[in-house]
Amino acid sequence: MKAHNNNDSDSFDQLLSQLSTRLINSEPDETQSCTAEVIAAFGHYVNADRCYVFEFDPEIQRMNNTHEWVRNDFSAHIDDLQNISAGDLPFFFNQMRNNFRFIIDDVETLPKDASNEYAEFQRESIKSVICIGLVAHQKLLGFVGCDMIRQKHRWTQEDIQRLSLVSDMLANSLERQNTYQKLIETQRQLEEANLKLQAQATQDGLTAIANRRALDEKLESEVKRAKRQRTGIAVLLIDIDHFKPYNDYYGHLKGDAVLRSVAECLSNIMQRSTDFVARYGGEEFAVVMSTDSAWQALRKANELLDAIESLEIEHKKSSTEPYVTVSIGGYFEQPSIDSDIPNAIKRLLDNADKGLYQAKSDGRNCIRFR
Ligand code: GH3
Ligand code: MG
Ligand code: MG
Repeated sequence: MKAHNNNDSDSFDQLLSQLSTRLINSEPDETQSCTAEVIAAFGHYVNADRCYVFEFDPEIQRMNNTHEWVRNDFSAHIDDLQNISAGDLPFFFNQMRNNFRFIIDDVETLPKDASNEYAEFQRESIKSVICIGLVAHQKLLGFVGCDMIRQKHRWTQEDIQRLSLVSDMLANSLERQNTYQKLIETQRQLEEANLKLQAQATQDGLTAIANRRALDEKLESEVKRAKRQRTGIAVLLIDIDHFKPYNDYYGHLKGDAVLRSVAECLSNIMQRSTDFVARYGGEEFAVVMSTDSAWQALRKANELLDAIESLEIEHKKSSTEPYVTVSIGGYFEQPSIDSDIPNAIKRLLDNADKGLYQAKSDGRNCIRFR
């Protein structure tokens, strides 16, 4: 047995204090290498042959060897010390759960009910062993320990005190790492929730297409783009004909289903990346198109009008057709480079709305372009 001199203890204490400072500020990767250095330092200090860290599962039913240091050519055991259950080493698990430590000067003196442990120590040629629990917030997270293989060792108060310092340090950094992991997970969940909320904020709940707010944003970005690229922009306002009598006759739920069908039909037709469909209000929809000509927008409006009628949704209370139809007001403009954006947006919507009013008064199921 080797007695430590003061120099050994001083340099070990110094090293431990340095490592603890590094551990406090370490990222997960550095925590791993610091842990490896800590157990190596303790192994050298106490003249051990193997040092290790084990982590328990939350129920303290299983343990895994997470770090191992071995002297020179002693064999490493980390690979066969994974997922060890309390049933494999019942005496050891009980000692750790109850005393948070397991200290054996001579494995030959182990009690009879530690026969599994004795066999394991024989297998690994261990003569003396010390394990000190990693405890954070009164919870046993694992342990740090040492094996003596070349000779027996009577563990001194000093050994126990120093290994307890090591275990405190490792327990805190492990706890911090677990908290960090939980923090990352919480952050991920928050980001996911935020994305969902953001989508909901710009999506119409009933029809799942864009809502009025998204339309306002789209109009602003499209007007800016049209100004920059010197292209035109067209807005169509689409209003379901005689929808109040539809609701009154078929009921509100069927009315909702019509709104969904119309939204889907419009979306299916407006498929270009620059096309945009939104629910503008109750039974009114808006389409924004980036286009060079009013004629192209008018052609698209005709396609939409025909497509809705072709859905052949029965409407007994319509004085226009026996099916659900829409009226469309449209407006096209090529915003000048110096045009004011809010004014341009207002002009687009106002003129499309005037077109829609005209289409209604001209008999519905038709398009009026301004
Ligand atoms: P017009 O042909 O002139 O457009 O007549 P209209 O009956 O469609 O027009 P009006 O504006 O009088 O009625 C619109 C109706 O749309 C009234 C309202 O009950 C219905 N509506 C608005 N939002 C919803 C909704 O979310 N679901 C259902 N089912 N109906 C809605
Ligand atoms: Mg309306
Ligand atoms: Mg209507």
